[in-house]
Amino acid sequence: MPARILDGKALAARLRAEVAERVAACGFRPGLAVLLVGDNPASAVYVRNKDRAAEAAGIAARTIRLPADITQEALEREIMALNEDLAVDAILVQMPLPPQLDPRAAILRIDPSKDVDGFHPLNVGRLAEGRPFLVPCTPRGVMRLLQEAGCEPRGARALVLGRSGIVGRPMAALLLAADATVTVAHSRTRDLAGECRRADILVAAAGRAQLVRGDWIKPGAVVIDVGINRTAEGKLVGDVAFAEALEVAGAITPVPGGVGPMTIACLLENTLHAALARRS
Ligand code: NDP
Repeated sequence: MPARILDGKALAARLRAEVAERVAACGFRPGLAVLLVGDNPASAVYVRNKDRAAEAAGIAARTIRLPADITQEALEREIMALNEDLAVDAILVQMPLPPQLDPRAAILRIDPSKDVDGFHPLNVGRLAEGRPFLVPCTPRGVMRLLQEAGCEPRGARALVLGRSGIVGRPMAALLLAADATVTVAHSRTRDLAGECRRADILVAAAGRAQLVRGDWIKPGAVVIDVGINRTAEGKLVGDVAFAEALEVAGAITPVPGGVGPMTIACLLENTLHAALARRS
């Protein structure tokens, strides 16, 4: 029987509607500020989508556009001004930054209580401790998709493919906090196919088109494909060979329409979470 396809678009729409209801009930407008440096076209599209989704949920979204040649000092001054701004509950620095800027130093400047992406070391540490506060949006979206699939991480073997700070590492920490037995694979992993075959939950975030083949998947496993890759023909594909995986997995996310839409929905949830926490 082919796998159940997990519809991230529909789930994200439900989540966004839920956030909108909670915002309407909370009696104030949470504020989200996005810093967009330079004119990277992909970043501009992401930021516009975030902006629209936030406004639709009743969140006051503000995009601050900064020139590509801004200095580190000036960028950090902008961040510190937003830290002080009472109307701003959540700050996001859109990545990637132009090469002269140090993203880590920029993130360090963000007030951890407004760090809506969960990239500040304090929030990374909280998650590593198993006491998450603001959690990176993409892994958070993956946890919601697992829930939607009726997948219980407790006691399950989970394989996270990728160890980046924005996806792989926080993903592994969230699965561990949910009592899964977690393995993290990366480019130095020996026998990647064998590691994948043992997994009840497989989260692929390597950024390699169709790396994970159908015969790498344990029959009935839940497969979440975070990867976004463009083929030579211009088609968007994930890190998993979808057609092959569909025949083996129990449930699987498509690309596009799986994890992608969840990321923005979780950003809205995080914004509301930060706003409520700052007022409690
Ligand atoms: P990075 O390039 O930062 O990390 C990729 C990770 O995968 C690294 O840990 C790397 O290992 C590992 N890796 C790469 N190639 C292989 C391989 N052949 N075998 C095993 N491991 C490998 O990427 P990100 O984490 O930022 O993103 C991953 C993917 O997710 C990308 O396609 C990105 O576009 C997508 N993405 C999607 C989002 C969404 O909203 N849907 C949001 C964020 C990302 P090593 O550490 O050893 O180099």
